[in-house]
Amino acid sequence: MERITVHDKNFVPYLTAADIEVKVKELAARISADYVDKRPLFLAVLNGSFLFAADVFRNLTIEAEISFIKLASYKGTTSSGNVITAIGLEEPLFERHIILLEDIIDTGKTLHEFIPQLAHQQPASIRIAALLTKPDALKYPVHADYEGFAIPNKFVVGYGLDYDGLGRNIPAIYQVEL
Ligand code: 5GP
Ligand code: MG
Ligand code: MG
Repeated sequence: MERITVHDKNFVPYLTAADIEVKVKELAARISADYVDKRPLFLAVLNGSFLFAADVFRNLTIEAEISFIKLASYKGTTSSGNVITAIGLEEPLFERHIILLEDIIDTGKTLHEFIPQLAHQQPASIRIAALLTKPDALKYPVHADYEGFAIPNKFVVGYGLDYDGLGRNIPAIYQVEL
């Protein structure tokens, strides 16, 4: 693989499409084993997770449902600052087993603020599956129960992840060249 340019930045190969495929199948197998007879409801956080979500979901060997949500952040009036709203969340979550599908956990802020709102509906359980995590960037206590790759604190694109709208269709994951 060669280095690529997206907008004004150069990126170097980091994870191949084959690396990703192996890992995603492994995660799907683990989730399938853990959720037999639980009929989990996957919530894929758009936009970045759309390919990860599709690939995890098609590799499940259990009954499962999936829904797609967008998280929008508003300036809140509470002391905690922002309020996260889920757009497209229509299913009742009461007593459901929820698995959030995220492309990447960076600071953890988004999920840290969103998960209490899910918990409000009293699901049976909430777990997180994240393709990527950046342990060195984490600032909030968010833990991926199913983690694809822990990566360095550098910006990445590809496999659903964008740089200012572009790069989502690249089948591999590339890291910014500093
Ligand atoms: P957090 O709330 O965990 O700080 O941020 C999570 C979101 O920021 C991710 O879901 C993703 O949309 C975006 N993000 C964080 N790091 C990266 C990165 O390296 N590349 C891309 N394309 N998006 C990122
Ligand atoms: Mg995301
Ligand atoms: Mg983005």
